[in-house]
Amino acid sequence: MSLTQSFADTEARLAKACAAAARARGSVALLAVSKTQSAETIAAAAALGQRAFGENYVQEALPKMAALASLKLEWHHIGPIQSNKTADIATHFDWAHGVDRLKIAQRLSEQRPPHQLPLQICVQVNISNEASKSGCDPAALPQLCDAIAQLPGLRLRGLMAIPDALQSDAPFAAMRLLFEQVSASHPGIDTLSMGMSGDLEHAVRHGSTMVRIGSALFGSRPTK
Ligand SMILES: *Cc1c(COP(=O)(O)O)cnc(C)c1O
Repeated sequence: MSLTQSFADTEARLAKACAAAARARGSVALLAVSKTQSAETIAAAAALGQRAFGENYVQEALPKMAALASLKLEWHHIGPIQSNKTADIATHFDWAHGVDRLKIAQRLSEQRPPHQLPLQICVQVNISNEASKSGCDPAALPQLCDAIAQLPGLRLRGLMAIPDALQSDAPFAAMRLLFEQVSASHPGIDTLSMGMSGDLEHAVRHGSTMVRIGSALFGSRPTK
């Protein structure tokens, strides 16, 4: 399938999901997850009007960012963050969605170059309670958000989760509730990053403001 077609199909899915949830289409941003995709493919997506791209692996992302620097794209780091990767993330990315502990946030804060705009932060929540998945325990979330909101060089934008779609709507609904609770004490936050190729309809129904879509746009990835 052509990129033009898959972007059009995904746009149609998003429009339909928004209509079903009585939401404006403009209330849900599309983050194109470009991990394993070449710089050429990303450039082709950019030519279709896509500006925001998500990458999981710093080492893989940096050469693509350098190759595409003239396009002025917006880069989101969406994977788990190891301590030894924070300097590259703080220097080269616009957003980080996988922040799930204070130590990582502190390093990103210290390492964000002062002349750059703040790094936009989503705190990842472990909502489906799976041992294999990273993310902050929901009970520890308010305290972590309060602490991150104080750090220079960072701007707390919201929450991120990878709800287990096999658990039906429950984890998506739980994320919406957490998002509302955190919003009450942090009026500046505006982003609920949830929903992927397989479950964007669930996510939009439960208040997602940013869906992270990879395979539906770029085709299935080679399994490693
Ligand atoms: C790979 C990835 C996605 C995109 O997944 P698809 O199922 O290909 O849409 C979204 N979010 C995160 C955190 C990912 O790692």
